[in-house]
Amino acid sequence: MRRHIEIVEVGPRDGLQNESVTLSTAAKVEFINRAIAAGVRRIEVASFVNPKKVPQMADADELVKALPRDPNVTYIGLVMNRRGFERAVASGCHEVGMVVVASDTFNQKNQGVTTEQSVAAWREIAAAARSSGVRAQVTLSAAFGCPFEGEIAPERVIDLAQRVAEHSPHELALADTIGAAVPSQVAQLVPRVRAAVPGLSLRCHFHNTRNTGIANAYAAVEAGVDVLDASMGGIGGCPFAPGATGNVPTEDLVYMLERGGITTGLDLEALLATSRWIQTQLGRPVPGLLVKAGTFPRRGASA
Ligand code: ZN
Repeated sequence: MRRHIEIVEVGPRDGLQNESVTLSTAAKVEFINRAIAAGVRRIEVASFVNPKKVPQMADADELVKALPRDPNVTYIGLVMNRRGFERAVASGCHEVGMVVVASDTFNQKNQGVTTEQSVAAWREIAAAARSSGVRAQVTLSAAFGCPFEGEIAPERVIDLAQRVAEHSPHELALADTIGAAVPSQVAQLVPRVRAAVPGLSLRCHFHNTRNTGIANAYAAVEAGVDVLDASMGGIGGCPFAPGATGNVPTEDLVYMLERGGITTGLDLEALLATSRWIQTQLGRPVPGLLVKAGTFPRRGASA
């Protein structure tokens, strides 16, 4: 059976949010245009959070307004609360991604409220999204481990999944925000969450902080997940591990999937060219490996 995996490009948001260099709005627009040219159809373009706390995202509203409109391309704005939701919708996002952290301590530090309050905010956003015709989905962050509380019980994730599912998200994501997960954990948690919220589309979001990101992505694919987040070049980082690598690199993921016969619809050469371009924008090598090694077999290589 032919398998297709949808890759959501999160470089412009999760990647750039964790970089010390802040790109200009024009450079971000170019990044997003390059992603679209490479075949990306869903892009997390910005987060609508307090610009004082996340200066890299201070131009979120202006950026989304400046993006080209293509009926086949969906722009996702990340939001933490109702105010962020209103900004995302006003600027023209097609979809909002709400974040609920599986650990209460992390939720407090990340969004200044308890997990319960974030679940309540999701309920409100889900209703508002329905009336404004905007797609809304939820990410359960730190679902595989928390920098403050350590291990997160699968039962906690399952309970939250069921509660957010009551308000009909377009999709539910499990995020390994700090890059603590290992493939066996993914293989165990994904089927349990699926069984708890049958019929709801699942997405996974991995960080390569401890070099397990791509293995976790493969474990998710094996567990039946059809949508994965990735960032070109593997840019970004982990706010709790200074110097750490970022998300799973998009091109590394595409290489692994496509060489194994799984389609993504993305153009590997275009992704590689963009990762090289990002290196010049950030003034540093990106963590991705394919950008260093090149693809295989080489284009035009003789047998
Ligand atoms: Zn992330």
